[in-house]
Amino acid sequence: MRRGQGTAALQPAELATMVQMVATTRPDEIGCDECFEQLDRFAELELAGKNAAEAMPLVQDHLDRCNDCREEFEMLLVVLQATADGV
Ligand SMILES: [Zn+2]
Repeated sequence: MRRGQGTAALQPAELATMVQMVATTRPDEIGCDECFEQLDRFAELELAGKNAAEAMPLVQDHLDRCNDCREEFEMLLVVLQATADGV
């Protein structure tokens, strides 16, 4: 009898991570073009102090995966912030 070994295979924490990974991998992923199209709105929400990630999860999802778009987003934030300060 080898009790203990089998039951330790799946820790609750590991299970939670797996569930989370499944939840964050969306079948309706967007590409760079779509992300870019929505980036303005996403940045505006972000600057308005709203939860952009919750409002536009697909954009957030893409930004998490795509370095190019994330850089673009960060530049956009800087530009929008400068514009907002100037007005
Ligand atoms: Zn991208």
